[in-house]
Amino acid sequence: MSAGVDGSIDVLIVGGGIGGLSTAYALARKGLRVRVLEQAKEFGEVGAGIQIAPNCTRILDEYGLLDEAKSLGLLPTGMVMRDAVDGSELTRLDLTDLERTYGFPYMVIHRSDLHGLFLRACRRAGVELLTDHRVVGYANTTQGERGARVELADGRVMAAPVVVAADGLHSVARGLLVDDEPVSSAYVAYRAAVPMGQVRRDVDLSEVVVYVGPGCHFVRYGLRGGEMLNQVAVFRSPKALAGEADWGTPDELDAAFAATSPEVRAGIPLMWRDRWWRMYDRDPIMTWVHGRIALLGDAAHPPLQYMAQGAVMAIEDGWVLAEHVARRRGEDGRVDWAAALAAYEAVRPEHCRRVVLTARAWGDLWHLDGAQRLRRNTILRARETRDYTFTDWVYGATALVPEEEPPMYPVVPLSSVELVES
Ligand SMILES: Cc1cc2nc3c(=O)[nH]c(=O)nc-3n(C[C@H](O)[C@H](O)[C@H](O)COP(=O)(O)OP(=O)(O)OC[C@H]3O[C@@H](n4cnc5c(N)ncnc54)[C@H](O)[C@@H]3O)c2cc1C
Repeated sequence: MSAGVDGSIDVLIVGGGIGGLSTAYALARKGLRVRVLEQAKEFGEVGAGIQIAPNCTRILDEYGLLDEAKSLGLLPTGMVMRDAVDGSELTRLDLTDLERTYGFPYMVIHRSDLHGLFLRACRRAGVELLTDHRVVGYANTTQGERGARVELADGRVMAAPVVVAADGLHSVARGLLVDDEPVSSAYVAYRAAVPMGQVRRDVDLSEVVVYVGPGCHFVRYGLRGGEMLNQVAVFRSPKALAGEADWGTPDELDAAFAATSPEVRAGIPLMWRDRWWRMYDRDPIMTWVHGRIALLGDAAHPPLQYMAQGAVMAIEDGWVLAEHVARRRGEDGRVDWAAALAAYEAVRPEHCRRVVLTARAWGDLWHLDGAQRLRRNTILRARETRDYTFTDWVYGATALVPEEEPPMYPVVPLSSVELVES
């Protein structure tokens, strides 16, 4: 029904992260009345960078937000993978050619700039944006007009024909669908986004660089047109493996990168040391809809970040949902919500399952040691740089319809590869 259960809104969205806000905008631009409930006192994001691939910039373009995103971010011309131990190049993507191939650019942008872009778009589109609203419970309404309701921490209840739970890794709503817990990878991420003035050495910001090493990797790219340097240092924590509660501490950071190349080590002193992010994902689930309550973004499919697709998948989710809602909205404004949610659930879980599982496998490949590391390097050096077999299913326009099963990642038995010292 187009009228909200309380008559004022069509969709309640829980969570004002990139997933919640982008979905709010996607639905509002289709004419729906949307309210976002965010638990924090203010809307905001971590002040570090994020990579957004052509499957995301395609959507930004459709939303009319791509030019603004470009003015805030940076368009690198290459993405290079290097060995973290000896610094040698393993493989690369020409991002100019990638843009020609997929029609839209690969970008890097400050998270708060991307989040702010959606926040402003939501304001312009008339989305009702409420902070300091923490949701503690969800239920479907079975009496009267069908819909769902949420209970707030202060005891208030809000209802709407549909509730979208974009409440992140620790989603409360996910418990309606599955009894699971976040899966610890025992890896931790350190971040830094600093003005170039603080960097004190030459860094080529025309490329996104990923250094892959034994039990660690290091990512570097520019932000804000080259005014800032963004770095992410990720490593396996010995303390996590030993079952210690206090894991991922700065002493472990220093030890993890001690044997890496000079270029990687030069970046480590810039990392923020007052906070770090322990890396969790969850096993994929194929059911995201419970009556009139739908999961979206990390609530549905939190990945390890190795494919740089977590926020992008959340943005795709919102776009797909809004497209199916629009297709099932009659001239009187009434939406066939059951059909729209079923269509959303028919399209997205399989794609996101593959991203979550591929990210795990990708991490395993990046973090190899010993002879396996050398074999991996041999395979990657032999890769034809214009071979997009393994990006088509991610960067292509795969979001709207179920697609055929393409290969998930290069499956070459490592034991079959001749060892080559780099
Ligand atoms: C180191 C690192 C690097 C990454 N790099 C990339 C990248 O390059 N590209 C990419 O696409 N992704 C990347 N990701 C993943 C990406 O950050 C996440 O997948 C994405 O931010 C998820 O967005 P979300 O809106 O679904 O969830 P979140 O960002 O977690 O937002 C959830 C929101 O809901 C609110 N909330 C939670 N519970 C409640 C409640 N009970 N009531 C009300 N509000 C609530 C929270 O306060 C929050 O604002 C990276 C992640 C990490 C850790």
